[in-house]
Amino acid sequence: MIALFCLGGVVYSLVEYVHHRHLGHWLRRGRLFRSHMAHHADPSEGGVGLWAKYRQRAPVVGLGLFVVGGPAFPVFGWVGGLAYLGGLFAGYLWSEAFHHAIHHRAPRNRWEAWMWRYHYVHHWKDPTSNYGFTSPLWDAVFRTYRSVSEVRVPDTQLPAGADRWHGIRRKGAEDSKPA
Ligand SMILES: [Zn+2]
Ligand SMILES: [Zn+2]
Repeated sequence: MIALFCLGGVVYSLVEYVHHRHLGHWLRRGRLFRSHMAHHADPSEGGVGLWAKYRQRAPVVGLGLFVVGGPAFPVFGWVGGLAYLGGLFAGYLWSEAFHHAIHHRAPRNRWEAWMWRYHYVHHWKDPTSNYGFTSPLWDAVFRTYRSVSEVRVPDTQLPAGADRWHGIRRKGAEDSKPA
């Protein structure tokens, strides 16, 4: 059961990557594309809280879980299917919370600082790279990983204290250097 739960989590991380790269960027139409472009225009999303995001996205998340998790039931049975579905759902909850944190608070350790910079590169250096929200795994597999030693984040989008970490710098209004 634990293995199926973990499998659900790993499959979710692939869903996260594909959904961000293809529906969020490549497709260039549809609700997910528009909402993701709004996220790029204002990554802090006007201060919308995490619980509000969970509520707003519940219908599409429910549908996604049904599509990705449903076929597991005939294969793994009820208990196994539920474990797999639980892993998928936990993966989603973690991904949403982690991505929210990246845009709303400073990192708390070196790994988080690395992940923050990795995602800031997607926003402020190269939106065709670093599609993972929670790990660089699928970027490495699909060769979209990009490492950058320093990324400059606009003043208004930099969580307080984030620029104390290596490689994350504040880009003020007076700073005309292109990103
Ligand atoms: Zn983001
Ligand atoms: Zn994006």
